Parts: sequence; structure tokens; C-alpha cells
Amino acid sequence: MKLTICHLYPDLMNTYGDRGNIITLHRRAAWRGIEVEVVPVSVGESPDFGTFDLVFFGGGQDKEQRIVCQDLVATKKGPLVDAIEDGLVVLAVCGGYQLLGEYYRTRAGEELPGIGALDIRTEAGNERFIGNVVIEPHLSLGGVRTMVGFENHSGRTYLGNGVRPLGRVIVGHGNNGRDGSEGCVYKNVFGTYLHGPLLPKNPHFADYLIHKALDRKHGEVELPPLDDGLELRAHRAAIARAKRT
Ligand code: GLN
Repeated sequence: MKLTICHLYPDLMNTYGDRGNIITLHRRAAWRGIEVEVVPVSVGESPDFGTFDLVFFGGGQDKEQRIVCQDLVATKKGPLVDAIEDGLVVLAVCGGYQLLGEYYRTRAGEELPGIGALDIRTEAGNERFIGNVVIEPHLSLGGVRTMVGFENHSGRTYLGNGVRPLGRVIVGHGNNGRDGSEGCVYKNVFGTYLHGPLLPKNPHFADYLIHKALDRKHGEVELPPLDDGLELRAHRAAIARAKRT
């Protein structure tokens, strides 16, 4: 069995160790004897998104987002939207999450277009939302009922009717600091503001993504359990720290 992961713009969209998500997906699949290929895709490239099982799109500041949004619209929009409609599994964090939506409007009022795969709109606010986050995901992730991460964004994201929130904020700001929602889910796309990186401290969510990606290709796939003692200690420590701040 093989898992092919596309890492979108690893050279431009990679803040707060987002690349750790790729390492986690890679390791957790390889530990189960699954062959893994990571394909970096950046500016000017137009891959066939149908050849990937999972896409990861990290965060970046406005400067990088400006370059990336132009390239996304020019070279990747159609095939990526089609693959998403077809059920491609995607994890998008912060700046990447924003650019899968309709647009991100900067504080200066510049509108950076997204690819419109997600029914979300993002507008920068005056103050940045910075800090540790704990959410209760609306996903069935087994015994662990929380996800933890770190947010740093000025964008306020509002969800339209076509998507549902990834979870409910317990600590932190989430999508917009107002409605208590964090991230969004549409088909097999998972958008979130959680950096950290997200997956090493949330091994249950990493497995959820791997499982979804492999299931889609191979039908019913069993992922043998791993010893997550250390990862779950990190998860609990992150929750305790977030609740103290
Ligand atoms: N520029 C975006 C914002 O501040 C994204 C930031 C990020 O990806 N960390 O909202």
C-alpha cells in the first residue's frame, strides 16, 4: 500500500513548523509498513491532483500569500477544485486555509483571491489572535475529544452555509473570535488555524487523515494502533498550558 502526499508550496507556506505535519503523516504511515511519497509542488507547477491521496497546505504571511494566490489561480485552481469535489483529502492551515476560500482581505484593504473551493471569507482585523488553542472537534476521532494547537492570525474567517466548523473553541479565538467556531470541513477538506505543528500533538487527527486518504483509494483499511503515549502526554501538556494562559 502506498500513500502519496502533495506538499503545496513548502518553500513559501511553512510557519510555526507546519512541515512537522508532513513528517508526522509520513512517519505514522511508514510505521505501519505503508510506502510514502511526498511530492513538493510550488510556483508554476500544474500537477495532476488526481494522483495524490492527501494534500497539505501550510500557513504564511500576507507577503507569501500574495505570491501564492496569484499562482494558485493561474496554474492550479481548476484541477485542485475538481479533485476536492471528487473527495481528495486536504489539510490546510491558516494562510493555506484562507486561500482555499473565496478571498482574504488584508488590513490595507487588498483582496487576495482564493480558489473558492470552500464557502468561507476572511478579512483582517485590527488585532492579531495569538496563543494556544484547544478545540472540541465535531469529528469522530476515537477516545480523544480535543485538538490542540497554536494560532497567530489577523484574519477573521466567516463560514458560509456550504461548510461546517471543524470544531468548537474551548480556549483561544478560532475562526473569528466571535462565534466560537474553529476551522471548517467540506467533503474531505479540513481547514484550521491550528499551527504548532498540529499533527504531532494530535496523533488521533493524523490517523484520521491517513485513514480517510487510504480508505478512499483501497476501500476498508485497518490502521494498526501505535504507541501514542508520548504524543498524548504532549497533547495533555498543551491543554494544561493553554488553560493557564
Ligand atoms: N496572513 C494571514 C493572517 O494573519 C495568515 C497568517 C498565518 O498563516 N499564520 O491572517
